[in-house]
Amino acid sequence: MQAQDVVQIIQERAPLDLAASWDHVGWQVGDPQAPVRGVLVALDPAETVIQEAQDRNCNLIITHHPLLFQPLRALDPMSPVGRRVARLVRQDMGLWSAHTNLDCVLDGVNGALAHALGLDPASLRPLVPLAQGAYRLEAWVPEALTDMVQDRLRAAGLGTVGDQGARFWELPANGYAGSSFLEETAFVGIVSADRLTAVRAALAGLGPAVPVHLTPLAHHRGVVGWGAVGELPVSLTRAELVDRVRERLGAAHVRVVPGMPGPDAAGPDAYRTITVCGGSGGSYVPDAARAAALYVTGECGYHHAQDAQLLGLTVIEAGHFYTERPVVARLAAWLRFRADVPVYESQLDTAPFVTA
Ligand SMILES: [Zn+2]
Repeated sequence: MQAQDVVQIIQERAPLDLAASWDHVGWQVGDPQAPVRGVLVALDPAETVIQEAQDRNCNLIITHHPLLFQPLRALDPMSPVGRRVARLVRQDMGLWSAHTNLDCVLDGVNGALAHALGLDPASLRPLVPLAQGAYRLEAWVPEALTDMVQDRLRAAGLGTVGDQGARFWELPANGYAGSSFLEETAFVGIVSADRLTAVRAALAGLGPAVPVHLTPLAHHRGVVGWGAVGELPVSLTRAELVDRVRERLGAAHVRVVPGMPGPDAAGPDAYRTITVCGGSGGSYVPDAARAAALYVTGECGYHHAQDAQLLGLTVIEAGHFYTERPVVARLAAWLRFRADVPVYESQLDTAPFVTA
């Protein structure tokens, strides 16, 4: 099995096109065509994780957090990033990351966190939906029209997911159609259902021969978005939830912004509807307060915590690493179901902070 076949299993559930425009997902280091001996799934591309992969005879590491955000101008083995890139190259090891594309599918980071906390899977929905139904669009346009069509598609919202900027690709697609050689550009991107009419209109009137393919994206219930909201089978008190977060996420250090019990409270200080957002979820405090009375996230931040206090929202801040770690087991399960190579979950706690 080649490395590209392994990562394809994850891409089918969390397409790279869904990643935020500032993000850098997918291949970080390595050869997509390399035969895979074993896969290690981890949250962070830490140096200790690279060692762990080596110890387990794995030559492909799949992480949630990417290693490369900024373009490298030099491969300085003394820099924190360069050091790890150099080591991966030396050891002929691949690194591939699913970051915000895994944050915004309900099955991903937040589904795994909600599952770990015991929320009913059937009740889950995104806290901030991005698109009620989305399609992958491919359109083949005569090369001479590329610039004009690019502007039109950007204005129409191709590749715009939520409030992020347009993100789509133009690929040269020259080839023969029958006996005639066509010089074309293929436009590829995600289009949300609410922008589909505008995108179709942008492609209209370009001549009869502009083929357009639309493929519905089969995400979990066709919905993508940030965070998740769901129901506990029975109400729990704040103290019980704090205990559960500690036990099930392995978070030794939990901080709480005390809010008010929710309208669905079965008694004083009891919560049944819970919102979650793995990682840095402070900016979703207003959305979380509208959806429920209690919010579990990784990092909230001082000012967002003050907003939560004002809104009466109880926040349990359990740490970036601990709220995202449940997705490691989920990724490994997706892979084991289809891959014919050994798949391991990292056993390392790579959170940089310790409680002192
Ligand atoms: Zn994260």
